[in-house]
Amino acid sequence: MSFSLNFYSIRKLLNIKRSKAFITNSVRLQSVQHAAPIKRICIVGAGPAGFYAAQYLLKQLSDCAVDIVEKLPVPFGLVRFGVAPDHPEVKNVINTFTKTAEHPQLRFFGNLTLGTDVSLEELRERYHAVLLTYGADQDQELKLPNEQKAHVVSARKFVAWYNGLPGAEDLQPDLSGRDVCIVGQGNVAVDVARMLLNPLDSLKSTDTTEYALEALSRSKVERVYLVGRRGPLQAAFTIKELREMLKLPNVQTLWRAGDFKGIDADFAKLQRPRKRLTELMLKSLGEQSTKSATESRKQFLPVFLRAPKSIFDRNMEFSITELQNNVAVATNATEQLPADLVLRSIGYKSSCVDSSICFDVQRGQVFNQRGRVLKDAKSQIVDSGLYVAGWLGSGPTGVILTTMNGAFTVAKTICDDILSHSIDTSAPRPGLDISGKRVVTWAGWQRIDQAETQAGKESNKPREKIVSVPEMLNIAGV
Ligand SMILES: Cc1cc2nc3c(=O)[nH]c(=O)nc-3n(C[C@H](O)[C@H](O)[C@H](O)COP(=O)(O)OP(=O)(O)OC[C@H]3O[C@@H](n4cnc5c(N)ncnc54)[C@H](O)[C@@H]3O)c2cc1C
Repeated sequence: MSFSLNFYSIRKLLNIKRSKAFITNSVRLQSVQHAAPIKRICIVGAGPAGFYAAQYLLKQLSDCAVDIVEKLPVPFGLVRFGVAPDHPEVKNVINTFTKTAEHPQLRFFGNLTLGTDVSLEELRERYHAVLLTYGADQDQELKLPNEQKAHVVSARKFVAWYNGLPGAEDLQPDLSGRDVCIVGQGNVAVDVARMLLNPLDSLKSTDTTEYALEALSRSKVERVYLVGRRGPLQAAFTIKELREMLKLPNVQTLWRAGDFKGIDADFAKLQRPRKRLTELMLKSLGEQSTKSATESRKQFLPVFLRAPKSIFDRNMEFSITELQNNVAVATNATEQLPADLVLRSIGYKSSCVDSSICFDVQRGQVFNQRGRVLKDAKSQIVDSGLYVAGWLGSGPTGVILTTMNGAFTVAKTICDDILSHSIDTSAPRPGLDISGKRVVTWAGWQRIDQAETQAGKESNKPREKIVSVPEMLNIAGV
């Protein structure tokens, strides 16, 4: 309230200044009129969508200033806390994000949570435009009895655990059993399978957290099932991820020949990427009888056409499904698979962090029209000056490249709306007042980064992630 008074009095003041200038000096009038206020844009979330949008805005709008508000004291979202530690090349995008962060017109405000430390209303008052890119931090559930039991863990939490997301370090997944059943067949599911089956030595030189390496060194897991409702032609994993699984030392991949029955009929109609993936599966299936199983203690076991039905203490029951128009339909037949640990990997979803966001609870994403957030879903009227990008707007699918393209498109929309005056930028906006808040700046993050890389050197790792928020804040000096 006090801010809006200030804001309007500033505007009043400016108007007065203009009229005075008009009377006294036409040159001064011109300079006052043309010195349009800097366009202040706030981006919520320092993941790929946030950084790519910032990069685009700073390049296209010479008179803009971008503030990134991030919940954690550290940036990069799922690039740091999702991407598998044995995929360091994927994390190279961090170099691009760092260049953007070092732009003089960008400020990073880490350790500030939208919905807790700052409200959307406040951000909208203090910026000409707000772009929400706070990602997807929840997971889809199977909605089965016993799902809350200790041996049923979401893949999202498991990934967060080995990647050192603050708060995930106490997960303590029980790796004392032989059989793990992963429900879901996307690339996240395959990442998790690889982390469980990878020889420990190949993880020691990655940024896997030390406590996870220690737990994995005691793991008794030998068989990992990867179970999907549909058939091999609908498999959600991609060829690169499958190739990696097939190359894992001392791991035998075993397909079920029955799952591939009848796929010849559709094979010719497949698009090239899917055709290549299917060829690889068939090649591996063809070779498995000739390979000696005794060489490998561990097994990777993809299972198709099974829908989760019941969870028991040491196994899971699945309905055997049939495909009807590409949809998996459960039959009355069932099969049980051993499962000392169940990892649920059927997708992420976003949460509504501020009650003023027009949020689709069912789908777990923000209602929007090509990045413009709606006032309400029914009228389809756009809430001027509020935007969404990344997984929060599109749903939790796609890789970093997809997120980049989406973020560029929404950033272009913001530029278009500013240039066409759909957003009122005639009066200056002050940006966020961070006084009294424990905010980690970019310099603070650089101190954390340095401490992590230094600690990693001692154990030949790219970094040893700091997991405790108080410790991060201490190092950042806030
Ligand atoms: C396990 C996993 C592995 C993946 N591996 C790959 C891979 O190998 N290659 C690839 O190309 N893609 C991969 N992806 C996909 C990629 O990570 C996503 O495309 C991308 O991270 C989505 O970006 P985003 O900015 O929308 O969300 P995010 O990366 O989730 O970023 C959102 C940011 O918002 C912050 N935030 C959350 N809530 C708030 C709040 N209330 N206030 C302020 N900030 C908040 C979060 O802390 C986070 O930093 C993977 C995804 C997952 C889940």
